[in-house]
Amino acid sequence: MHFRTEIRNVTIVNEGRTFLGSLLIDDDRIDRITEGEVCDLRTPADKVIDGTGCFLLPGIIDTHVHFRDPGLTRKGDFFSESKAAAAGGVTTVFDMPNCVPQTTTAEAFREKWKIASSKSVVNFGICFGATQSNASELSRLDRRKVAAVKLFMGSSTGNMLVDDEADLLTVFEQSRLPIIAHCEDSTIIAENLKAAKKTYGPDPAIIHHPEIRSEEACLRSTELALKLAKQTGARLHVAHLSTAVELELLRSAGENVTAEACVGHLLFSSEDYARFGTRIKVNPAIKSPADRDALRKGLTDGSIFSVATDHAPHTLADKVGGCVGAASGMPIIQFSLLSMLSLVDAGVLDIAQLVKLMCHHPADLFSIENRGYLREGYMADLVLVRPHVAWTLTPNKIQSNCNWSPLEGQTFRWKVERTFCNGFPIYNRGHITDEKYRGRPVCFAR
Ligand SMILES: [Zn+2]
Repeated sequence: MHFRTEIRNVTIVNEGRTFLGSLLIDDDRIDRITEGEVCDLRTPADKVIDGTGCFLLPGIIDTHVHFRDPGLTRKGDFFSESKAAAAGGVTTVFDMPNCVPQTTTAEAFREKWKIASSKSVVNFGICFGATQSNASELSRLDRRKVAAVKLFMGSSTGNMLVDDEADLLTVFEQSRLPIIAHCEDSTIIAENLKAAKKTYGPDPAIIHHPEIRSEEACLRSTELALKLAKQTGARLHVAHLSTAVELELLRSAGENVTAEACVGHLLFSSEDYARFGTRIKVNPAIKSPADRDALRKGLTDGSIFSVATDHAPHTLADKVGGCVGAASGMPIIQFSLLSMLSLVDAGVLDIAQLVKLMCHHPADLFSIENRGYLREGYMADLVLVRPHVAWTLTPNKIQSNCNWSPLEGQTFRWKVERTFCNGFPIYNRGHITDEKYRGRPVCFAR
C-alpha cells in the first residue's frame, strides 16, 4: 500500500524557476510535479494539502553542523538538534567531527553513525576529521558512506589542529573526498592574543575577538589551503568565509575550490557585539560590516557556493566571559532558512538563489544521491514556508537543547509550516509530529 500526499496550488521553487503547481508524494519519493492550477491525478491522493499562498522548496541541506554527540551532550545531542533542524525546514545535516571522542578513527565513525541512526529525526551525513596522524586512513575511507573530510587548519577546536605544512600536504594528497577546511592561522592568532592580553587583561572583551582572530589570520590560512588545492587537485570547500579579502582570493581559484558562507556571518557584523555580546562569538570571528556586505554580495555573484549554519549549541553558562573565557559557536539551525528568507525580503538574493545555495549546490558538491532538488523519483525532502506572517522569536519556540538563540526577540516575516523528510511529515506548524521517526543516512554517488 502506497500513501500518496498531494500538495496543491503551491508556489514551487526549483532549479532557477518559481511557478504555481502541485507536487505528489508517493511514500518516500516525489512522484509527480505538475504546473498550473489544475492537477490531473488519475487516482486521487490519500491526503491533500492546500498550499495556497505558500512556497514549496527542497528540504534544506546543511553541510556544517555540530550536534555535540557523543561526549558533549550536555550542550545538545543528535535528537534535540535534529528536531531543531526539522523545525527549521532542514532535512539533511552533515555533522562535524569535534565531539568526544573525535570522529577521527574508523571506530569513532561507526559509533557516530550508530548514534545518528538511532537519534536523528532528519537525514544525516558524517564527516571524518583529519589529524596529524591519520592521513593514511583518509585514502581508505568509504566514499559512498563518508560525507567529507573536515580539516581544521590552525583552529582552536579540540586538538584536531593540523598546521604543519607537510602534514597538510599529506591530507590534501590522501583525501579522495571533498575537504571542508576551517582556515585560520594559529601562529597569527597566538601572537594577536598575547598582544591583546597585554593591553586588555587576561580575558579581553568580546569586541576584540576580530582583532585576535583577525582578517590576516584567515587570509594566510586560506591562501595556504588554495595553494595546496592547486598543487594536489584536491576538492576543497573553504568553510565559513568571514572576510572580503578571502572572497577576492577565491574568485581566481581553480574549479576544484568552492566557498561556504554561514548564516551568522551573513546576518551579523562587528557592530553587533555591543548588543549581542558573546552570543555571537564564533570562529572565525564575525568581522566588519564591509566584510558582511561582501559576503552578502557573494551570494549572488557566484563566489559563495553554499550556505550552511555551523550550528554549534552551547549552554549560556559556557558563553560567559570574553575572548578567552566564552565558548565559540551559536545555535542557529532552526532559523537559518527563515533568516535567509529575511535576506530575500531585504533584496540581498532571490528565493531561487537561496534554493541553489542551500539545497542544489550542497547536493551537487558532495554528490548526494536523489536529494537537493524537486524532481520526480527523488526523495521527498521538502519544506513548505509561508510568507507575510509576523511572529517574534521567544525561547519557548526553541527546539535546541540549550534553549537560547542569538535571534531571540527578532520578528520574522516567514514561517516554516511543514517539513517532509523522506515523504514523512516530521514537522507540522509548531510541532515535531513523531519523535520516534528517524531520518536516514544519505548516500553519495561517488
Ligand atoms: Zn564548524
